Amino acid sequence: MTKLAIYPGSFDPVTNGHLDVLKRALKIFDKIIIAVGENPNKNYLFTADERKDMIKKVTKGLNVEIDHFNGLLIDFAKKGKATAIIRGLRAVSDFDSEFQAALMNRKLDPNIETIFIMTRGMYCYLSSSIVKEAASLGSKLNGMVPSYVEKKLREKFKH
Ligand code: ADP
Repeated sequence: MTKLAIYPGSFDPVTNGHLDVLKRALKIFDKIIIAVGENPNKNYLFTADERKDMIKKVTKGLNVEIDHFNGLLIDFAKKGKATAIIRGLRAVSDFDSEFQAALMNRKLDPNIETIFIMTRGMYCYLSSSIVKEAASLGSKLNGMVPSYVEKKLREKFKH
């Protein structure tokens, strides 16, 4: 039986920190569904299609499926027959909201486990927000995002 997990997030845009979590999760699961969130209360820099396109380009060769969702994550996971939700943890600041979401999701469906993958030291500072801020100021993004994503950021900010 294929062990399937879902990796949800904004991925606005996908960073090397996201990719590191993804690759490590693929050592545990056969296949990962990357679920790009479309939350109407969030202000994204990239559209869902742009975010999906960047993920597609930078995950070539990995056993992933890329989709988007805008409803309840647990319903999306069930529909895709995933048995686990993957989330990354960077700092204590991530913990509180992740803890709440994991408990809520367990209440909604006790059969779907949330699995946390601890960031690598070199990526503990890395977030999509910091990358966007750096790109908006014309800073180099060495090692933070794949070169395709860097190109897309430059286009957005016209540097
Ligand atoms: P969300 O808006 O759902 O938090 P993000 O795209 O910011 O979406 O993050 C998606 C997931 O990836 C989250 O679980 C987040 O903690 C994790 N993540 C993001 N950046 C890193 C990183 N540098 N190291 C480890 N996990 C990360």
